[in-house]
Amino acid sequence: MNLKSDFCLKPFNTFGIEVLARQCAQITDCNDLTELYKKGSFKQDFLVIGEASNILFLSRFDGLAIMPLIRGKEIVEETDHQVVLKIQSGEYWSSLVDYAVDNNWWGIENLSMIPGKAGAAPIQNIGAYGAELKDVFVSLEAFDTKTGEFKNFNKNDCKFGYRDSVFKSSYKSRFIVCSITIKLSKIAKPNLSYRALSEFFAGTDKSTIRLKMIRDAVNQIRSSKLPDPQIIKNGGSFFKNPIVKTSMAENLKKKYPEMPLYKIDQKKSKIAAGWLIEQCGWKGKRIGDAAVHEKQALVLVNLGKAKGSDILHLSEKIAESVFKTFNIKLEKEIQLV
Ligand SMILES: Cc1cc2nc3c(=O)[nH]c(=O)nc-3n(C[C@H](O)[C@H](O)[C@H](O)COP(=O)(O)OP(=O)(O)OC[C@H]3O[C@@H](n4cnc5c(N)ncnc54)[C@H](O)[C@@H]3O)c2cc1C
Repeated sequence: MNLKSDFCLKPFNTFGIEVLARQCAQITDCNDLTELYKKGSFKQDFLVIGEASNILFLSRFDGLAIMPLIRGKEIVEETDHQVVLKIQSGEYWSSLVDYAVDNNWWGIENLSMIPGKAGAAPIQNIGAYGAELKDVFVSLEAFDTKTGEFKNFNKNDCKFGYRDSVFKSSYKSRFIVCSITIKLSKIAKPNLSYRALSEFFAGTDKSTIRLKMIRDAVNQIRSSKLPDPQIIKNGGSFFKNPIVKTSMAENLKKKYPEMPLYKIDQKKSKIAAGWLIEQCGWKGKRIGDAAVHEKQALVLVNLGKAKGSDILHLSEKIAESVFKTFNIKLEKEIQLV
């Protein structure tokens, strides 16, 4: 374990915000957590950081930042039809997707190019292009910072929801994920339910669509819309897509027929937050170095020296105008620290 004081987090958050953590522990083995527990390290404020691609730092973090750098993946079960994989928390999610695609294992190709580490994937039940982690999730092993013990969680225990899990509510800031286990299929299961993907493959004979083609299509669509944090600093979607009563959504649809709308069930519908923000005229706007991305209004970017508070200020202005125009409250997907 590597323990450092006054650790600069700028290279370790995708918004590129310049902040320090009072202490940082880079963990290469889950047993390091037991060592930290014995030293009483979890009695102070602590924060687990993967790539901090879903975190906006507002000021110095006056606690212990823990970075799980534990690598490795293994097949724990395999049949003719499926494979069960155990992945350590420090593995990059996008490399895992490429590994699965290279092996012709289906299930996570729609989640290609999502930044971050495998250990963070269950925290908000990552999702994209009509798929979510929960669709392939089997279990995870986590360290309990209250008791110092390791605990297994199955899918039900995690209480997955839209960008949500038990680790964002009742178990917030308690467990550190050491590994996750997922089940992938060896049998072709193309998921083209998401409009952008079905449009991409419109006119293509379904029987000719290979796993790699779907992963590549997702990459192509994402690259055309989303800024690469290596080039333009950002944290992906700043807000969640609001879920509203279907009756309200249908009334809005009458007024704005072009509004993208996803019916979840009879009672609830999801509205594209990016569309709402764009209608309020925010796309491409900037306040200092904090800006709204010119191709995707849901993504706020740091064009240079923005502080976390500058990005937050911009996000508040956006939420205010969306509320005034549509009477819809936007909820942040990004975690503020
Ligand atoms: C350009 C861009 C595109 C994105 N696209 C998507 C998308 O399509 N879909 C989507 O769902 N998300 C997306 N995101 C958000 C982000 O990539 C995911 O939320 C990702 O899972 C975060 O991983 P991370 O390792 O960076 O976690 P961090 O941002 O470091 O942490 C996120 C949360 O998880 C906690 N955490 C991290 N690791 C652990 C661990 N091992 N144990 C316990 N808690 C932990 C942190 O404390 C924090 O609360 C995008 C982000 C960017 C920058």
